[in-house]
Amino acid sequence: MERLQDRVAVITGAGSGIGLATARRFAAEGAFVVCVDISDKAGKAVAEEVGGEFVACDVSDEEQVKALFDGVVERHGRLDIAFNNAGISPPDDDSILVTGIDAWERVLKVNTTSVFFCCKYAIPHMQRQGKGSIINTASFVALLGAATSQIAYTASKGGVLAMTRELGVQFAREGIRINALCPGPVATPLLMELFAKDPERAARRLVHVPMGRFAEPAEIAAAVAFLASDDASFMTASQFVVDGGITGAYVTPL
Ligand code: NAD
Repeated sequence: MERLQDRVAVITGAGSGIGLATARRFAAEGAFVVCVDISDKAGKAVAEEVGGEFVACDVSDEEQVKALFDGVVERHGRLDIAFNNAGISPPDDDSILVTGIDAWERVLKVNTTSVFFCCKYAIPHMQRQGKGSIINTASFVALLGAATSQIAYTASKGGVLAMTRELGVQFAREGIRINALCPGPVATPLLMELFAKDPERAARRLVHVPMGRFAEPAEIAAAVAFLASDDASFMTASQFVVDGGITGAYVTPL
């Protein structure tokens, strides 16, 4: 069954990790995928692979985001799904005691302001259609505190979660569903490389995951495809947690 047959889907941050896996999954379920990334090379490669379209866009730039969504509707006639997923987690975002205003502002801009722009310019198109599904990528750190702090990142994802809840409530009677995705740690190449170099850092985190491993990007993509599809027709304003049991755990298996 192709749940997303003929739907037009925009994915930001489609060039890598969760966005890349979701582009593949959406295409496999029948969607036409607009692959958005700040990186031309990665974005073009995924668009070609899934038979979609690449649009270069810095999601933290208002004009570019407006042009992105208006352009998609001009070219394809509709906008069914927006997966607002692009985000950053830079090394200079750390404990509040050492994190500077530059890192704070950069992370908030790319992770939270971008979601504000993407929702602002996607929703009017969905209002005209009387239907649409928006999925904003938050994180499990929007729900739990970490002693291994990345303070701007955590605050940025808390903002995504609260914003999504409010938008979901506001537009619920117009047929637009807006949900936040809260993934646990994902085994993206960057993270795996970091943890391979620093096994103690990996162990410090893995002990808290009941399943004892990080997620594969495809496992997160499966959850996004569900939220995007009509199978999730009674879900909106939710925090959809896909975390291997982390947020449910007190003591984990040995
Ligand atoms: P990733 O780094 O593998 O991919 C992110 C993509 O976004 C890249 O292709 C990058 O070029 C693009 N991007 C970055 N800044 C951009 C901008 N300004 N405009 C457009 N594109 C931009 O990341 P990922 O691990 O797949 O994470 C995707 C999302 O999931 C992020 O929002 C991240 O915070 C969130 N998340 C990740 C994890 C994890 O463990 N990987 C866990 C929870 C939440």
